[in-house]
Amino acid sequence: MIKDLLNKTKTTISFEISPLKTEDEFQAVFAKLDAFAALKPDFISCTYGAGGSSAGKTIEIASYIQQHLQIDTMAHMTCVGFKQSDIQKNCELLEKEGIHYIMALRGDRPQTMGKEQFNSREFLYASDMIRYLKANTSFSIAGACYPEKHYEAASFESDLIHLKEKVEAGASFLVTQLFFDNDIFYRFRERVMDIGIAVPICAGIMPVISANQISKSIHLSGSSVPKELENLITAYGKNKEDMRKAGIDYVVRQILDLKEHGVDGIHIYTMNWPKTTAEIVAQISI
Ligand code: FAD
Repeated sequence: MIKDLLNKTKTTISFEISPLKTEDEFQAVFAKLDAFAALKPDFISCTYGAGGSSAGKTIEIASYIQQHLQIDTMAHMTCVGFKQSDIQKNCELLEKEGIHYIMALRGDRPQTMGKEQFNSREFLYASDMIRYLKANTSFSIAGACYPEKHYEAASFESDLIHLKEKVEAGASFLVTQLFFDNDIFYRFRERVMDIGIAVPICAGIMPVISANQISKSIHLSGSSVPKELENLITAYGKNKEDMRKAGIDYVVRQILDLKEHGVDGIHIYTMNWPKTTAEIVAQISI
């Protein structure tokens, strides 16, 4: 449960799933929710399409997980392109569905949004929305953080200062961007503690089970790929099953090391793959 994360009573295991874009994709994700629930995660978070393109779908999935599967659910919400009144409406819908947790994000500029519109947004940063949510709703709020710095930040230091503002605005825990090198996370965690951020941090971990993930999601995240993972992709990338096994093995070693180093939570970017997630969970639970 998220309570265990907030109280730091155990290392929580949580999943991120995405409703995706089309109706068929959405139905396919929906059909996998029971399989994810069977793995008994502490909570499941559901992403929000860029610019809120999947807002209704996020709420529908989050509601099913919360009400039907009875697993703590965190709905992602971005503020780019939204007014206070839109955010308020969304919150009321989530409240009605019994959801208590929001991952509050600024979001990226959608391709359909001009620079001028982006620059005149009502909530400038995630911390502005978090402050609003804290003052006007009873949700428990999480924020995003970036062990390798957010791509727009002028420096690692300025990103950390803004992260502190996010926590002071009301984020009660953080989830990291995905990373593949635990040393980067350990250095980040030290710096975070040094500047007085004490909230729990979930480490965002993504299994790499095919070579083309590198060119897609990993490239977008800006996360660096260590030599060991690069070598593994070179060695196994052309054989689907071997790559899957090697990718799972890498991620399992990464998670076990994080647990040994006292991480607060492991947040698996599941890519909507219950079978791969099940194998990871089985191996990290031994
Ligand atoms: P912010 O915290 O607002 O930071 C954005 C940039 O502004 C940073 O460079 C920061 O240093 C800077 N900044 C912050 N405050 C100030 C200030 N006061 N003055 C000047 N600069 C400032 N995107 C989606 O569209 N949907 C999702 O569901 C989604 N889920 C995510 C989950 C996680 C765990 C993570 C790590 C990212 C997710 N994203 C999602 C991507 C996210 O929307 C982008 O990374 C976005 O570019 C930044 O969002 P943020 O909330 O971190 O922004």
